[in-house]
Amino acid sequence: MIADRITEKLNILADAAKYDVSCASSGSKRKNENKGLGNASNGICHSYTEDGRCVSLLKILLTNHCIFDCAYCVSRKNNDIKRAAFTVQEVVDLTINFYRRNYIEGLFLSSGIFKDADYTMERLVRIAKKLRTEHNFNGYIHLKSIPGASDELMREAGMYADRLSVNLEMPTEAGLKLLAPDKNRQDMIDPMNFLKNEIILRTEEKKLFKKAPLFAPAGQSTQVIIGATPESDQQVLQSANYFYKNFNLKRVYYSGYVPVLADKRLPALNTTVPMVRENRLYQADWLMRFYGFNVNEIVNNEQPLLDLDIDPKLSWAIRNMQAFPIDINKADIQLILRVPGIGMLSAQKIVSARKFAKLSLDQLKKIGVAINRARYFIVCKSNEFERRDLTGQNIKQFILAESQSKYIRNTQSQLSLF
Ligand code: SF4
Repeated sequence: MIADRITEKLNILADAAKYDVSCASSGSKRKNENKGLGNASNGICHSYTEDGRCVSLLKILLTNHCIFDCAYCVSRKNNDIKRAAFTVQEVVDLTINFYRRNYIEGLFLSSGIFKDADYTMERLVRIAKKLRTEHNFNGYIHLKSIPGASDELMREAGMYADRLSVNLEMPTEAGLKLLAPDKNRQDMIDPMNFLKNEIILRTEEKKLFKKAPLFAPAGQSTQVIIGATPESDQQVLQSANYFYKNFNLKRVYYSGYVPVLADKRLPALNTTVPMVRENRLYQADWLMRFYGFNVNEIVNNEQPLLDLDIDPKLSWAIRNMQAFPIDINKADIQLILRVPGIGMLSAQKIVSARKFAKLSLDQLKKIGVAINRARYFIVCKSNEFERRDLTGQNIKQFILAESQSKYIRNTQSQLSLF
């Protein structure tokens, strides 16, 4: 009977949590000491469902009751759905049981807001504390911070969680006002600011005193919903860039809006989930964080939307043909990283390999460079310079045509198996 009740709660609260995509569990260094349960320093894998959602953690809400009425959220107070709430002990027991059975590597816990922010946050913190102190659980814990929660609770949360995140929800304040009028952007910014300062302070402390306790070792992240409000990619990426720079965020997660609720402020129910846009935003985000691109190079007033047909690096390259060709055998790694078809690993391999001999197209291919894209933008030992007098638009068409025919070839060879 009790098991049935827990199963029912689990169905409701795991289903309600699936719209939150910010659950990748990277970057933690929590070690298993004293023969405790789990180990977040290795073995935490990121499993994603086909639509890109992470599935390796027990991902649930503490409750889907909520005092707020955010238009885009299935848990909003005026939505007529089945409600449920776990007790603190139930979440602890579920986590431990699932972990022992190898179903999960850790816990991703969020919640609707019972009563007020502190009342809810206190329960989330209590769960993490019990897992760490009573069960010696060393698996990964990602807690969603409730906007408006007090500094004391945020500090305590950081003592037990690997990662904390405060969802911005909408890329801009205007979007938030429109769809979540109960919420206040400042209630999100304050805890983010507190976490940023506390993480810096605790990291310094840890350098001085090895035994100083960990504080949110996997840092803080946030999530924005895209497609529910009309912000352009330029607004989305500028906002992400601002939060990366000012709050030391580890990640911004972009969640394509899933239309599940009818509301005149929202896109119609039959609107397609913007999965391609979501993917392009992640690619643009990588360019900003790891490839040295400035946000204005990717999107700007002339080009406020990402090109959905091609990745943002290729899109930048064909708009900036004057920057090419890049000599693979001489150029600085930062320039090589700007070549479409060359990723971080390939760029590093190029720089190491060219010390011994000049590289040709064949060698670049062996290194892992996507020659079909890179060849229009580089010179190397091979004589052919594929760009010739092509314009950026010509190159785009060639690349698209080639990937299209490759797709058809692959489909045909797969079909011939049946
Ligand atoms: S506060 Fe969170 S759970 Fe509540 S309605 Fe808004 S988004 Fe949903």
